[in-house]
Amino acid sequence: MHRAATIYNAGVDAPNVSTARRRYAERLVAALRPARNLAGVAAVTQAAGAEVDQIVTILEQRARDEAGATLACRAGCHYCCTMRVTASVAEVVALADHLRRTWSSQDLEALRRSIEAYDRDVRENDPHLMSIYPRLCPLNAEGLCRVYAHRPLACRSFQSLDAEACRRRFIEREMVPVPQVTAIPAMSGTVASGLQDAAEYVRAGPRVVHFAPALGEALKPGRIKDWQQGLDVFGPYYLVSLPDHVGGR
Ligand code: SF4
Repeated sequence: MHRAATIYNAGVDAPNVSTARRRYAERLVAALRPARNLAGVAAVTQAAGAEVDQIVTILEQRARDEAGATLACRAGCHYCCTMRVTASVAEVVALADHLRRTWSSQDLEALRRSIEAYDRDVRENDPHLMSIYPRLCPLNAEGLCRVYAHRPLACRSFQSLDAEACRRRFIEREMVPVPQVTAIPAMSGTVASGLQDAAEYVRAGPRVVHFAPALGEALKPGRIKDWQQGLDVFGPYYLVSLPDHVGGR
């Protein structure tokens, strides 16, 4: 096994990380109560994304210094974008609101159509959504994530020390392990858990949802307003979170 794959908690600001879950839960609850405030939700999810990026940067450096290991992730490499992606409701709402404000109506409609086609295809082939299905995420275009700066925490924290292992695992569907710096998803998960705790606490939706179809729902006219008014918009997209080695993120 790659030595870097066994690095845990290596030198990261441990007190900061250990309180992250509570910090993000409290911040998001404040943005959701008494009214569901979109600007507040966006601010919390952006801060969460920046914190996860920082965790990745610090641990990548540690893996390099202590084990001579380098992450294989590069722009254009998108083997892992065939994995099913889970996200918190806050991440989905913040991204949908951002897209509605910044994309043209034609581009939004095209994205909604490709998400619907993706969802149909995935459900026909894997009705219980328990495995990875080799269908590229509808947010990916020509190998690049179209929402990179706003991508889910799960996407930010997935990394690999071996791109060939990713190709075999995610494209060829061979049951080979993908070596990782395991502390990265472990620590990033504390941030994600805070967002999930808050959604559960204020009954804003399930803890985690299937990212792309939930985003498609949020992009339908009026659905973010419905969610702000307390309707159960994301219940049908609830998804059990799977560990990376099973094929989810
Ligand atoms: S959101 Fe972006 S990074 Fe995540 S799976 Fe989709 S294309 Fe890949």
